Amino acid sequence: MAPLAPSSLDVARHEVAKVWQRLLAALDAADHRIVSGPVAPPVTRALLKREIEKINLDLGCGEPAIDTVINLLEQATVHTSHPRYFGLFNPATILWGQVADLIAASLNPQLAVWSHAPAAVEMEQSALRFFATRLGLPNCGAFFTSGGEEANRCGVQVALVRTYPEVAELGLRALRREPVFYVSGESHLAWLKIATGLGLGRRAVRLVSVNDALQMDLGQLAELIRRDRREGRSPFMIGATAGTTAAGVIDPLPALADIAAQESLSLHVDAAWAGAAVLSDRWRGTLAGIERADSVTIDAHKWLSQPMGTGMFFARRAEILPEAFGVNASYMPPAIEGGLDYYQTTPQWSRPFRGLRLFLTLAVIGRGAYEQQINRDVAAGVFLRERLVARGWSLLNQTPLPVVCFTRIGHEADVTWHQQVVERVVKTGTAWLSSTLLDGRPALRACITSFRTSQLDIESLVEALHRAEA
Ligand SMILES: *Cc1c(COP(=O)(O)O)cnc(C)c1O
Repeated sequence: MAPLAPSSLDVARHEVAKVWQRLLAALDAADHRIVSGPVAPPVTRALLKREIEKINLDLGCGEPAIDTVINLLEQATVHTSHPRYFGLFNPATILWGQVADLIAASLNPQLAVWSHAPAAVEMEQSALRFFATRLGLPNCGAFFTSGGEEANRCGVQVALVRTYPEVAELGLRALRREPVFYVSGESHLAWLKIATGLGLGRRAVRLVSVNDALQMDLGQLAELIRRDRREGRSPFMIGATAGTTAAGVIDPLPALADIAAQESLSLHVDAAWAGAAVLSDRWRGTLAGIERADSVTIDAHKWLSQPMGTGMFFARRAEILPEAFGVNASYMPPAIEGGLDYYQTTPQWSRPFRGLRLFLTLAVIGRGAYEQQINRDVAAGVFLRERLVARGWSLLNQTPLPVVCFTRIGHEADVTWHQQVVERVVKTGTAWLSSTLLDGRPALRACITSFRTSQLDIESLVEALHRAEA
């Protein structure tokens, strides 16, 4: 046989360093332009598609493609890395999370089995145990997920298997009664996706109405559980929200834990955004009761400023995980005593090293830096509320956390008006915020989302809102 040709994929070692240099320079320049440009540049789809179609995927166009993709992203993205992105929990990302992604992509450990990636699995478990201890669930089983949706799905799956062990083997058809679970009308509606995906069907999601404070209404919950039992359905879980997506409101966790215990239901706490507060000694008390949960969701890609795809799932009883997710395959390396084989305890098979982002960040800056940022963001939220009230806006949500929902008396029932104010602000490029409905009533919504946001940025937002109204 003739000798093999050199690899067409390999890049010469001395070239690699040049590529990194080029990349870092391009990213840095783009970041400078982004923070001084519009938060949400206007986009024409036809133009964008034409630009992208110019790139010859058959022949490739060499390293300049790096600059091309950065430029495309710069031109046609809502910039979550901008200090005046007052948005939907999508953060500017912390440098250490970015560095972690480079390391993980470069060494590419496979976390499906412990024996393939002992260092990676143990670092992840160390970060997860750190959180679990702060949560008050020191002996739980935990793993990283793609996000809150996956973690909430795991919560339902674990609750199903805990309540009906036969479901793991026989599926839902083994049940004589229709299983149902309870979340508030203000919860994250990924619950509906989850219910269809798991074969429960959307009707299994019982949307409990909320009280004046936008928390799950306890009387209504008790009434729904009673009615479901009377009508032959089988309640199995309460999904509490700790930090609703629209308004940052925390359901009454201790009371829900009491009800779950009395009714023999599992309690899942979706703390996708607000769960970060466990890192702050000053604010972790807002999550009191979370330590009684059977399972918990926290997204590090929200308030903890990590790149997308850094969810966490915690299950009070680690033994439930292999019951829900277990499988054995002859082609996988055999288990090693004491080693955690994720493919048998989580829904995924091949598993990326997502957790390095959080582990490395904590390893570099420690919990204290996160605590300071969380306390700073809460203070920034207070400042935003003060500025809004001073300009005559009416606040609509009660939460200590930095999500601020507000309206203008005279327009408080007008959905279109709220959307128009948002549209006008976003069009100026000054800031990005959103509108939402709170229990059906329209609101403007601004969340302190970026660690880059300064007091001046908040003033600019309030000023832009003022001009958008005129
Ligand atoms: C964002 C969010 C989710 C969904 O999480 P993803 O990471 O987007 O999948 C679920 N629940 C709440 C309360 C959220 O804020």
